[in-house]
Amino acid sequence: MEIVGAVHGHSRYSDGRGTVEEIRDAAADAGLDFLILTDHDTLAPLTDIGEGFYRNTLVLFGCEVSPPTNHLLVFGAVSCPDRSRRPQEYLDDARGQGALTFLAHPHDRGVPLAHIPSYRWDAWPIEGYTGLEVWNHLSDWSGHLKGLGSAVRALRRPAHALHGPEAETLRLWDEMGRTRPVAGIAGLDVHDVQIGRPPFAAHIFRYPYAMRTLLCYVDLPAWGGDPEAAKADLLGAIAHGRLHFANRELGDARGLGFFGLRPGAPPATMGDEVPAGEVQELRLTSPLAADLRILKDGTAIGGTSGRELALPPAGPGVYRAELRLRRDGRSLPWAFTNPIYLR
Ligand SMILES: [Zn+2]
Ligand SMILES: [Zn+2]
Repeated sequence: MEIVGAVHGHSRYSDGRGTVEEIRDAAADAGLDFLILTDHDTLAPLTDIGEGFYRNTLVLFGCEVSPPTNHLLVFGAVSCPDRSRRPQEYLDDARGQGALTFLAHPHDRGVPLAHIPSYRWDAWPIEGYTGLEVWNHLSDWSGHLKGLGSAVRALRRPAHALHGPEAETLRLWDEMGRTRPVAGIAGLDVHDVQIGRPPFAAHIFRYPYAMRTLLCYVDLPAWGGDPEAAKADLLGAIAHGRLHFANRELGDARGLGFFGLRPGAPPATMGDEVPAGEVQELRLTSPLAADLRILKDGTAIGGTSGRELALPPAGPGVYRAELRLRRDGRSLPWAFTNPIYLR
């Protein structure tokens, strides 16, 4: 089954404007199945509030290790690793706790318009991370502001102002996938930043709005019931890369499928590593008519407009799909699958 949720959010435990209670309400109101909050350098809500189902939303607390650069999202730890250590050390600390680790907004541009520096990942080489935050709503939105006019337009319709994952991040993802599976997620990085004072205040993504934008759609064998079991199932599926992510503001991506069809065996799906010779056909299906592309090692091997694309694979490689929607006469980035790895 498929569940949908939001990852990477900040509350008053760090620099967000909302309380955890307000944010989980926003997630539940948006019909999300899960929410993973990641305050900077603290896991205090884990003990203050506790994880579990709130209405129908599983609310989990991760953290974001946040030195000036090299932010690391950590899901499933009991103590947030120390940001004053070297990146490989705080990553290893998280791994030692059995937690998932994602390099956050690895090619962040900063906010050139406001002279805010880049929060990119620059501690290379780095080993042992679960995956990449391939698409970060806040980085995408703020990194492309060009002036007052574009800022006003982007504030009015933030989800239409997104440019999609950074090309460099996609390149890194495709390249890393050649040696091992690397899970990709999309994060909101929502803070509800207020600029100015009422009645002239502007907000960069209020929580209820954000919960309807960049979401992760995760495939699981079962869902619900015991919160501990649900947490283990969810984090296991995310670690495996069994998910796609999409900008729901443009259209709900529930039901999107990406499979490698194998005669006499169950289809391979996102996150799977299988022998290349076993897969006869790659099949992408979309719940909405869209521009569909299947890529091998970062290069498109075929595309169409519609709801289905089927292609034979072209030998071993990292295969993933990208979908764009046309809105207001423009083609906008919409949904991205995790790869299927043909070896
Ligand atoms: Zn960050
Ligand atoms: Zn953040």
